[in-house]
Amino acid sequence: MVLKIKTGDEVVVISGKDKGRRGKVTYVVPGKNKLMVEHINITKKHIRPTRKGQQSGIVEREALLSISKVMLICSRCGKKSRVGIKVLKQRTDEGGKLRFCKKCGEVID
Ligand SMILES: [Zn+2]
Repeated sequence: MVLKIKTGDEVVVISGKDKGRRGKVTYVVPGKNKLMVEHINITKKHIRPTRKGQQSGIVEREALLSISKVMLICSRCGKKSRVGIKVLKQRTDEGGKLRFCKKCGEVID
């Protein structure tokens, strides 16, 4: 199965509080349609010291986003695009499937 979005892709958020923001995919959860994007969907976690000498404070980290909330940005046309899947006759590492941009037709990988 070919995922439409992979680690390292540049995406734009299309819904939610980070709508319109761009970032690079840092992690995709296999089989769960969830991913993590650099600097997107930041949650703040308050840390309370549980032992003496431990620092309290706020830690910011990215939380998982649903894959349906982002769209890939095509590296050729620079637009957010729908990803198509092409099936090739000859086999490749991805099982003969390639992703391509539905806007300009550019093969992504
Ligand atoms: Zn394109």
